[in-house]
Amino acid sequence: MTQAQGFATTQLHEGYTPGVPQFTVATPVYQSSAYVFSSLTEAREKFALREKGYIYSRNNNPTQAVLEQRLAALEGGVAAAAVSSGQAAVALATLALLGRGGHVVAASQLYGGTVDLFDDTLRDFGLEVTFVDQDDFDGWREAVRPNTRAFFAESVANPIAQVLDVASVAEIAHEAGVPLVIDNTVATPYLLRPREHGADIVVHSATKFIGGHGSSLGGVVVDLGTFDFAAEPERWPALFVPHRRYGEVSLWEAFGPERAFITLVKSKLVGDLGPALSPFNAFQLIQGLETLDLRVSRHVENAKTVAAFLHDHPAVGVVFHPSIPTNPWKGVARTYLPRGAPSVFAFELAPSEEDAFARAERVIDALGTIRLVANIGDARTIVAHPASMTHNHMSPEQLAAAGISQGTIRISVGLEDPADIIADLAQALALA
Ligand SMILES: *Cc1c(COP(=O)(O)O)cnc(C)c1O
Repeated sequence: MTQAQGFATTQLHEGYTPGVPQFTVATPVYQSSAYVFSSLTEAREKFALREKGYIYSRNNNPTQAVLEQRLAALEGGVAAAAVSSGQAAVALATLALLGRGGHVVAASQLYGGTVDLFDDTLRDFGLEVTFVDQDDFDGWREAVRPNTRAFFAESVANPIAQVLDVASVAEIAHEAGVPLVIDNTVATPYLLRPREHGADIVVHSATKFIGGHGSSLGGVVVDLGTFDFAAEPERWPALFVPHRRYGEVSLWEAFGPERAFITLVKSKLVGDLGPALSPFNAFQLIQGLETLDLRVSRHVENAKTVAAFLHDHPAVGVVFHPSIPTNPWKGVARTYLPRGAPSVFAFELAPSEEDAFARAERVIDALGTIRLVANIGDARTIVAHPASMTHNHMSPEQLAAAGISQGTIRISVGLEDPADIIADLAQALALA
């Protein structure tokens, strides 16, 4: 500042000039709520979305933008929207497609939070859902209605690690003229890229393997650029009907096929509903992303070792990991997961006279290094009891459809020395 200024002015302005590059090698945390316009004309053009640039961090932020671009590239997509949580990513991608009065066909094996969203909250807003067993291809086909606007499934479901035949479900979705949305949280783009198998939109809970350290919530919607919305524009009024928000043109005209859908998610839905990702969390998720391949490779190796140990243990019944010879999804995993299966899976305690819950409780409470945590994809090994935790308010029918019993224990194998993970499981299972 050139002219003399007071203390209060100095504490607000000194030492920082917007727009000057600092040449930091790491992505800076642009922890700013809003951005300076150089003129009113510039502000007017940006507000009218005629000029690109930052306005306010609910809509866009430079740290978020780095995360978006990096994940879009890793998934082979055209554009991405980073949001405050995986739950927000799932909700916004679905709302953007369903519009008014739409219907989604969804796998019954979904994450509990997604089941609640679809089965409860979306219904409150007049939207419709049909759940189908994800391996029942006739079920997917028969569930289609005139107002169906999306298919939704996880590439690898949790807790029991069913691997989706993505290509077959994508084909049925496309026959119905709707996109397939894949929640790729558990697999990550390092193990499986849904685009290579015909999917159209990917969502992530970046809270899990992308961040990878159990510290920050975040989510991402990636448009893979494969679905031809323009083939039936009357199905997608949010993209094709001109709107005063975009200057009496449609999003499709204003942003083109590569950015129209993501602009619908970010500028309209995040803007109106508010689940913006904090720049600090975006920074932490970027840090995690920088070592994704290394971490996931180690997770995969450790998980295989732990699954083999559990499979051989007399107190353990079924181990739901694709590396186990009798696993029903072993063949699908060979096609879709050439680098190995994710480290999130479940096992059942062997059948016994005793109540399954009581035994699961004794084993879980005896664990030491392995902690009881409602999360997955942390660098640390964690377990959960789905029937009492993540899936606690599901009906018995929903639990059965998801393959969960009182004796099911979910494990997310971390990056510790495998011998220590196994030693902890061994001493706890000795009490089963
Ligand atoms: C955790 C999770 C979500 C929800 O993500 P949050 O970041 O916790 O909001 C969605 N889908 C899957 C598969 C998850 O594991």
